Amino acid sequence: MDTSCIFCKIASGAIPATFLHEDDAVVAFGDLNPQAPHHVLIIPREHVVSLASATDGHTEVLGRLLRVAAEIAERLGVTDSGYRTVINTGPDGGQSVFHLHVHLLGGRPLAWPPG
Ligand code: 5GP
Ligand code: ZN
Repeated sequence: MDTSCIFCKIASGAIPATFLHEDDAVVAFGDLNPQAPHHVLIIPREHVVSLASATDGHTEVLGRLLRVAAEIAERLGVTDSGYRTVINTGPDGGQSVFHLHVHLLGGRPLAWPPG
């Protein structure tokens, strides 16, 4: 755990949050500033700074993040309408919180390409 990391604090329960999913390796919770009717963040409990700093040792948890995203999308009822999963990495990727996370966005049509 990185004690200065907001997502580590959420994952550990130091900052209260409502989890949409919780297991040994992964938690999911709503984004503070939602960009769609459904905007969920899925994160590893482990403090991994970004996709760029993930290693082969993180292969299983990386897969788990996407499986959990699909499970939550199903529960939210957006599987048929569709949704987007996004990992922003580094400055050009628009990453603002440096603890790896997958965004799940759904509930409205999403434009492509992104800005
Ligand atoms: P990034 O820009 O790094 O891809 O995404 C970070 C996301 O975290 C943003 O969508 C932002 O709204 C969200 N966020 C930042 N701080 C908090 C927080 O304290 N709680 C929650 N739930 N979301 C946060
Ligand atoms: Zn962290």
